[in-house]
Amino acid sequence: MSQKLLLEEYTKNFPNNKSGALLIQEAYKFAQEAHKGQKRNSGEPYFIHVYETALQLAKWRLDAETITAGLLHDTIEDCNISYKQLSKKFGDTVAFLVDGITKLGKLKYEEYHDRNAESLRKMIIAISKDLRVVFIKLSDRLHNMKTLNSIKQEKQKRIALETTEIYAPIASRLGMQNLSGELEDLAFPYIYSKEYEWLKNNVKDPYEKRTEYLKQVKPIVIKKLKEEGINPIRIDYRAKRLYSLYKKLKRYDMNINQIYDLVALRIIVKTVSECYATLGIIHQLWPPLPGRIKDYIALPKPNGYMSLHTTVFSLEGKPAEFQIRTIEMHEHAENGAAAHWFYESNKIYKSDKIRHKKVGDKEIAWVKQLKIWQRQFPGSKEFLEALKIDLFSDRIFVLTPKGEVVDLPSGSTPIDFAYKIHTDLGHSCTGAKINNKLEPLDTRLQSGDAIEILIQKTRKPSESWLRFAKTSNAKKKIRNKINTSKEKQIKYDYRIATKERVGMLKDISSIFSRNHLTIENIYTEGTKKFPIIRIVTNIKNQKKADEIIIKIKNIKGVLEVGYKTI
Ligand code: MN
Repeated sequence: MSQKLLLEEYTKNFPNNKSGALLIQEAYKFAQEAHKGQKRNSGEPYFIHVYETALQLAKWRLDAETITAGLLHDTIEDCNISYKQLSKKFGDTVAFLVDGITKLGKLKYEEYHDRNAESLRKMIIAISKDLRVVFIKLSDRLHNMKTLNSIKQEKQKRIALETTEIYAPIASRLGMQNLSGELEDLAFPYIYSKEYEWLKNNVKDPYEKRTEYLKQVKPIVIKKLKEEGINPIRIDYRAKRLYSLYKKLKRYDMNINQIYDLVALRIIVKTVSECYATLGIIHQLWPPLPGRIKDYIALPKPNGYMSLHTTVFSLEGKPAEFQIRTIEMHEHAENGAAAHWFYESNKIYKSDKIRHKKVGDKEIAWVKQLKIWQRQFPGSKEFLEALKIDLFSDRIFVLTPKGEVVDLPSGSTPIDFAYKIHTDLGHSCTGAKINNKLEPLDTRLQSGDAIEILIQKTRKPSESWLRFAKTSNAKKKIRNKINTSKEKQIKYDYRIATKERVGMLKDISSIFSRNHLTIENIYTEGTKKFPIIRIVTNIKNQKKADEIIIKIKNIKGVLEVGYKTI
């Protein structure tokens, strides 16, 4: 661990960006100071975690602001550093990125509610707004997974599950296959420990045998390619990852001999036409297995993956799988969206050096990035759908104080939120805290907001809420409640025939007050000896009105009681 190593990794990709390097150096010092004395569960200094997070981001060739935010990613949450402090010292973008990570940290994943997994994945993308927040979160999670053995056992499985259900799929959607596979493999032993052991023990020999076999195939391929004028950049062995093998084996009755791509030969060449030429040459050498030729160059996978795949009957008639691609395709297959980020930011940065002073790294907008992808991967709708949720979807995702995700139409207010959680919470709502700040009830919520509803038991919905409530659910419940409150305004006119007695009037009126009924009018009729007492009051329902009659009848000297409604 050293500042030098981190800076080297950065300057490799951005050799002329002095201000970027300076920013990273500042953040390095700042984070070291902020986390001083803090330890991780392993006993290591906490700073190692943020350092490793930042180093990984540099390896993904991300820009200085992302690396800086990686170093600072836990300072708001763990060091009482404020957004303001960060934006003053490191600029708005860095503060924005760290704030995004802090918000993501509040999300809660419930392992038994996996129907929520998709909404949680969307939520993460939606509140990130800037893809770089997702990259930082993925890097943070990668390091946490690498050090998972030092935390409490009961937490390990939950975090491992969250990783396979939420973060690995996000990485995969962003085309970061390498990361997605690594996250899954790190989680595998914590989720399926027995299966993991079995596989590890049973796969070692086949892996070695396959690699040995391909070692004999490789020189034959190289020789033939050279004869045809193709010099591959490199050819290496790609071993299938354990978790992905496990998933595939389940579909093949756990028969490992059925898995042809346990180990594959990966050929990296210079151009697309060399890819197709290489495929042809391999098919000249050995006959292909029907149905196993896949052209992901003409038809890229939804996440942007491009390559040619083929399985041939190679030496001794045994199947061997080949994957053929250019260096750009390879980088995309490994690092996906992060790789694009680099190409685009570097391009703009370079042009910035020449002339366009106005276009800085900072202005690489999320929208622009999407447009670039759209151009590069026409027709890969699913990939774009997954990304552009924040921009084009009509839903927002907000959080309860417990960190649960609530899905609402955009334009929703705290009132809609309250009614979505529980009808009574809506009825008794008096105010709302949004991100810990008291805000008006007609405030429009944003994705990522954490909402706390303040209540008062006796509160009733106000008619004015109907003006700004967005969801029909909230509107319906507000109307119902207001209408039933109105129905209750029924006046009862009691006639009580009595025999004259001192204290009679007091005894009768106290029955009304003990039952929380406000007497609107009280007077007497009849004769002095046999007065008739008249009382007018509002009562909710007839049942209650009848109960009052029984109670009055029990009073000494009461002869007869009745009422009529008015
Ligand atoms: Mn962290």
